[in-house]
Amino acid sequence: MTTTDILIIGAGISGAVLAERYAAIGKKVLILEKRDHIGGNCFDYLDENNILVSKYGAHLFHTNHEEVWKYVNRFAHWYKWEHRVLAKVDGQLVPIPVNIKTVNQIFDLKISTEAEMEEWLEKNRIEFTNASNGEEAVLNKLGYELYEKMFKHYTKKQWDKYPEELDASVLERIPVRKNFDDRYFSDKYQALPGGGYTKMFERILSSPTIEVMLNTDYFDVKDEISGFTKLFYTGPIDRFFEFKHSLEDKLEYRSINFVKETVDREYFQENSVVNYPGLEVDFTRIIEYKHFGNQISERTTIVKEFTTDEGEPYYPVPNARNSEIYEKYREEAEQLKDVYFVGRLANYKYFNMDQAFKNALELFALLEGKISRRRWNSYGKEKARKI
Ligand code: FAD
Repeated sequence: MTTTDILIIGAGISGAVLAERYAAIGKKVLILEKRDHIGGNCFDYLDENNILVSKYGAHLFHTNHEEVWKYVNRFAHWYKWEHRVLAKVDGQLVPIPVNIKTVNQIFDLKISTEAEMEEWLEKNRIEFTNASNGEEAVLNKLGYELYEKMFKHYTKKQWDKYPEELDASVLERIPVRKNFDDRYFSDKYQALPGGGYTKMFERILSSPTIEVMLNTDYFDVKDEISGFTKLFYTGPIDRFFEFKHSLEDKLEYRSINFVKETVDREYFQENSVVNYPGLEVDFTRIIEYKHFGNQISERTTIVKEFTTDEGEPYYPVPNARNSEIYEKYREEAEQLKDVYFVGRLANYKYFNMDQAFKNALELFALLEGKISRRRWNSYGKEKARKI
């Protein structure tokens, strides 16, 4: 029998932050992690080409939350990294999100001002006052040609559904820039941790009162741990309740099959991420990791991403059926005393990293009487963003 003050399931952002916070007030913390590493989906490592790669897809940190930025700076030296993404459209590489340069390249135009871009959009968009699905949402913003070239098939590859089969909300928030800003994010802080995310997690978890047990699934050992006053669970919520509300139809997730290759030349592509929104290939994008932090190596590592239904749970699928099932679990979770469901899997919600940090920091502050329930609730109102 193992005893601890605080028991945490999962060593991703949510679990690690709570562990660090409780250790800082003198508690003994035990983390159980079913994978063979810490860091959750942010885990990265040096591969055989001496390139720092992320095991679960490229992770770009961006935030407007001052308190999150201050917190993460305690555990890593962050260097500025403004992420850019290119997409292969009609055989050429164009920047996304759509901005003046994208439109000029694809349609061979010479738009040079915001007013001209507005005029172009106005001429091309197809107006839907209340878009009823994803297709109408994109047509309303960008018009037919950009919809076909950049969104229709990409969405099908990503979600296995055409935009017309998805809620308008899934595509309504795609950014469209009326200037030349080709940065992928517009947050105040955009950076990467020097040495990588895993090193940062090692520092977050470095207190001698934190113990991490890897390769340990909570459900295999739960009867062997005692003495804890709080349990923080960061795994899938339906698994916690043994799938009882969804025996036939589990909460759906989209997963990604990462196919890694070594290419025997210095660079494979001109940018870290190149998206393939067309039908010519069935992967969604290629990541070339050495671009992040301008790493130097003779050969290069690329990863092709194929979105699938099977595999690790990554993206919750936003539809009415899943919301209904999730709601049943949420109600049940609220009845439990001293058990907290934290992070993206336990909340069945896509969280960017900064939201996961913020959520965990605020939950700790709430439980330790440092913020009011009203302020905590206001966090829940912040809409989860899709990257
Ligand atoms: P997780 O990282 O998933 O951690 C949960 C942990 O719990 C896992 O390690 C899991 O193994 C463990 N666990 C689950 N069940 C059990 C169990 N029964 N017993 C023991 N352990 C268990 N965010 C950004 O801000 N920028 C990006 O560029 C970005 N890119 C992303 C790309 C991809 C492909 C994905 C999927 C996500 C991306 N994110 C990005 C989001 C980011 O990964 C999440 O915000 C973050 O990982 C959330 O942390 P978490 O602790 O809630 O969950």
